[in-house]
Amino acid sequence: MSTLYLVATPIGNLEDITLRALRVLKECDVVAAEDTRRTGQLLKHFEISKPLLSYFQFNEAKRSEDILQRLARGEKVALCTDAGTPGISDPGERVVKAAVAAGFKVEPIPGPCALVAGLTASGLPCDEFHFVGFLPHKSGQRRNLLEKLKIIPGTLIFYESPYRVIKMLEELVDIYPDRQVVLAREITKKFEEFIRGTPRDLLDQMQKRSIKGEFVVLVSPMPM
Ligand code: SAM
Repeated sequence: MSTLYLVATPIGNLEDITLRALRVLKECDVVAAEDTRRTGQLLKHFEISKPLLSYFQFNEAKRSEDILQRLARGEKVALCTDAGTPGISDPGERVVKAAVAAGFKVEPIPGPCALVAGLTASGLPCDEFHFVGFLPHKSGQRRNLLEKLKIIPGTLIFYESPYRVIKMLEELVDIYPDRQVVLAREITKKFEEFIRGTPRDLLDQMQKRSIKGEFVVLVSPMPM
């Protein structure tokens, strides 16, 4: 039966691929990938050979139509992004909406997701949380959004580039001085670490080292 599968892939450790993800990737007709080269390497590692179709932010509209046509022909399409779960700060939402609207089956193949991995090991409350993803690049917009998020009752979760971690910590020192912050770095990789403290503690620490790798930034809920 034609199905769009959203296949989560490892965020740094290939052992995190699931058995079901491997089966779906083996059984599908085509793999739609954010980066065909990168997904091609993943498939090669697991000795899977499949036609690849590029599906990324700037061809999402056109490619969504192509994927819908394939589904209409009865094909099984697996969508993968570079790492983690499709649709989470990654392409996916558009084709999912289109497939749902057209009445096709959409199946998640759950697996790695940096926000869930970061949150669950952070030591911060997991019962209520708000995922923001990437902040805008412009300083004014970043600060406005951070101000607005102050009233959110749960843990705040951000994705951040290593080039902007210091900038973000400076913003947190100003806007969230009394909260606990966790930097979840290189999750599932060799140099994984969870760095915990106030924004000031973390800024002092991070200014002394070179900042590399991928980060999830978590901010504790407002004190009751
Ligand atoms: N779809 C992915 C997911 O499910 O988590 C997220 C893709 S988004 C383009 C990439 C961002 O996720 C990185 O900039 C970083 O903030 C976060 N990220 C991805 N892998 C990570 C890792 N291994 N450790 C820490 N953060 C990670």
